[in-house]
Amino acid sequence: EEDAQKFRKSHKSKVTGDDIPLPIGSFQDMIGRFNIDKKLLTNLLAAEFVEPTAIQCESIAISLSNRDLIACAPTGSGKTLAFLIPLIQKIITEPVGKNHGIRGLIISPTNELAHQIFNQLEAITKGYSKRLNCAILSKQLANKLNNKIINSSKYDIIVTTPLRLIDIVHNQAIDLSKVSNLIIDEADKLFDHGFAEQTDEILTHCTFPHIQKSMFSATIPSGVEEMAHSIMKDPIRVIIGHKEA
Ligand code: ADP
Ligand code: MG
Repeated sequence: EEDAQKFRKSHKSKVTGDDIPLPIGSFQDMIGRFNIDKKLLTNLLAAEFVEPTAIQCESIAISLSNRDLIACAPTGSGKTLAFLIPLIQKIITEPVGKNHGIRGLIISPTNELAHQIFNQLEAITKGYSKRLNCAILSKQLANKLNNKIINSSKYDIIVTTPLRLIDIVHNQAIDLSKVSNLIIDEADKLFDHGFAEQTDEILTHCTFPHIQKSMFSATIPSGVEEMAHSIMKDPIRVIIGHKEA
């Protein structure tokens, strides 16, 4: 507890909500606390991610405690890994049985940002190819899904922009009913660009009963905060540095 207070003070961070888990202190902490898959840890170290950043310390503990999350941290503070690490851990350890299908959905405002996320995802999932099938919803993949050349249930994690996703949702060419983890990245930009409606519509197709939702942003304007609270259940809110909005 005391260490957590010191940690938060030194990072100018504010964490609010019910039953807040303690932040992790190192990536190795994830072994004892969350039984993290060894290969995931090896991949992180191989990619020269040695020490978690402040937002990673908080988000990893919160997400692996199965809590909804509103995370606000400056650009360049490592928000991508803050959501990818717990997402991968959860999906590779989830019992799937016959219930396979898209379980992780990451929404990003632009294709360029979606590619950046996908690149980091590939870097830290090396060697998981048999257990984890990740894809970016490219134009080609969208076409294949629309033409029923590929079934969406072949994938475990999809990274996409809202517009591209909405298009195939309208064609009923993607099954989002198994999505157990929804991540909205750069939520402020998404809402600035007027994607609120699309995001709402996507949400109505994510019907999995125990879906966990996370939102990441560099700023949390009040509209985004309201939206987050309207779609989340008892979220924990993490703010690193100063709230700029
Ligand atoms: P944000 O989304 O918060 O703007 P990114 O997730 O894009 O930030 O990360 C910014 C940069 O920091 C990237 O180049 C990423 O590889 C690097 N990075 C992220 N986490 C770590 C870490 N724990 N150790 C070292 N570098 C990191
Ligand atoms: Mg980012």
